[in-house]
Amino acid sequence: MILVLFGPPGAGKGTQGARIAETVGIPNVSTGAIFRGLAAAGTEVGTKALGYMKAGELVPDQIVVDLVRERIAQPDCEGGFLLDGFPRTIAQAEILDMMLGELGLSIDAVLNFDVAEDVLIERLSGRRTCITCGATYHVVAVPPKLDGKCDACGADLVQRADDMPESIRTRLREYAGKTAPVLGYYDAKGSLKSIDAVGSPEDVFASVTAIVQSLA
Ligand code: AMP
Repeated sequence: MILVLFGPPGAGKGTQGARIAETVGIPNVSTGAIFRGLAAAGTEVGTKALGYMKAGELVPDQIVVDLVRERIAQPDCEGGFLLDGFPRTIAQAEILDMMLGELGLSIDAVLNFDVAEDVLIERLSGRRTCITCGATYHVVAVPPKLDGKCDACGADLVQRADDMPESIRTRLREYAGKTAPVLGYYDAKGSLKSIDAVGSPEDVFASVTAIVQSLA
């Protein structure tokens, strides 16, 4: 099964992506997480991407597309995969269709996480992320048991550079200008499924599960 998780920053794609991938038994391919890993490892691509990410801007299409092409060619993606945070532009969506077409594959569903902008700002500005395992928390809604420490691995929690107010504004602008138009692209193909993603993670996961089960 090939799934695309779509939605603005802060819509909950990361949280839901991990759960969906585990339930369906497919790898979770998050372009943002891959870039953060490459940046932490000090690779050339990671360092290049980091400048855009910190500013809240999109990484150029060519860099992202090359990364995804390489990742989905790995053996663990043979039985399908979940894309979180890709595609984010019409050009990326078109190239993805071409890449999949060459392999005789197609997207089963694009799950669009629908959340109002004021909720997104509240979520992103309160988000704290584990520097080691990437688990996410929220200062009010999902606080860690021990202040500033990850429940899962005990490492420090930090505020991502792109969760700072100026970057949040840029990310939402980038989403509205470059990413939201991709919705029309998938709607026209009939693969778009919208989910009200304002409720609790459990409620959202239940909605996602119902859709995924209908595809099986
Ligand atoms: P995310 O973790 O999905 O919020 O992504 C964090 C950042 O990584 C984004 O704000 C972009 O700078 C970059 N990024 C991730 N995926 C893409 C993509 N498909 N196209 C361009 N930039 C991306």
